[in-house]
Amino acid sequence: MPASPAAKPLLLDQSPDDWQLGAAPAYRRRQLTDWIFRRRAESFSLMTSLPAAFRQQLAADYELAPLQHVRTQGSRDTTRKFLFRLSCGDFIESVLIPANPALYGERADRFTLCVSAQVGCAYGCKFCASGLAGWKKNLSPGELIAQIMQVEKLSGATVNNLVFMGMGEPLANYRNLLAAIEVINADWGLRLGARRITVSTSGIVPQIRALADQPRQLRLAISLHGADNATRNRLMPVNRKYPLEQLFDACAYYQERKKQMLTFEFILIRGVNDSERQAALLAAHARRLNAKINLIPYNQVEGLPWERPADRDIKNFVATVKAAGVAATVRLEKGRDIDAACGQLRLRELS
Ligand code: SF4
Repeated sequence: MPASPAAKPLLLDQSPDDWQLGAAPAYRRRQLTDWIFRRRAESFSLMTSLPAAFRQQLAADYELAPLQHVRTQGSRDTTRKFLFRLSCGDFIESVLIPANPALYGERADRFTLCVSAQVGCAYGCKFCASGLAGWKKNLSPGELIAQIMQVEKLSGATVNNLVFMGMGEPLANYRNLLAAIEVINADWGLRLGARRITVSTSGIVPQIRALADQPRQLRLAISLHGADNATRNRLMPVNRKYPLEQLFDACAYYQERKKQMLTFEFILIRGVNDSERQAALLAAHARRLNAKINLIPYNQVEGLPWERPADRDIKNFVATVKAAGVAATVRLEKGRDIDAACGQLRLRELS
């Protein structure tokens, strides 16, 4: 699909202070944020408390809704994937995960949304569908924010937990990420507390340190997937640039600044990182860095050679980690009924 011919700026890409509203009185800015973030109007024409001429001017100057919904996969009670087309024609996906009170003791009204940060990804993790087609572009602040607003509208859910963990590496899109978080966090914006926002990274050390130095209490998750450099090198090329020693130093710095628990994400892959030795090493790192562990048995990706471990090996791994006194959750059921590895829905659309 060709890029939008008008190529108007996206209103959501700018902070309300930067909106060019001509000679409009100051209170119009507040009315506009109210229509966008409270009432969720998707067209300027629906903002009926604004003068008609003002609405027409806004429509001439700005684009309001950057995402076109293409398809939803999954059902109300399971993980749902939403595929969107950007105005440039590229596809992205957002994944909504409902609570599972029976299995994890979560509150029933908890909805976690995984948001994509880029189209494709340059980091080429060997188990990941998003890396297969390479990096195409960074999502703009408005394209990040719109994923939340669109999923809430389409699902009827209120997102109360947000994870930048869909397609792409969020810390490689640092400036847009922080601009979006400002709006997501703001009283006039989506009002989601910083402690309910997690940034998940493959381990971009300088940006982890930058994130530690910015003022918001964002949560940090590290996609670890290997408990020693040799295993991690095999799965994640980023580890050659920022090996575990540097990554753990940056994690310790983050903790020192934010005084909060980290999360280590660890995808369990048969015969690669599912041994007891890996489990013991992982537990030792987690204890030292005050991290909890989120274990995700691998979901098969078409065209990739990796496999999910046997259930017995998953249980042994979890038992070893827990015996070391480390908090660990294993995500057993979610996403198994649909393509659960990030980027798969988009790849299918492209093929
Ligand atoms: S796991 Fe994350 S960083 Fe690695 S290729 Fe996939 S999207 Fe990129």
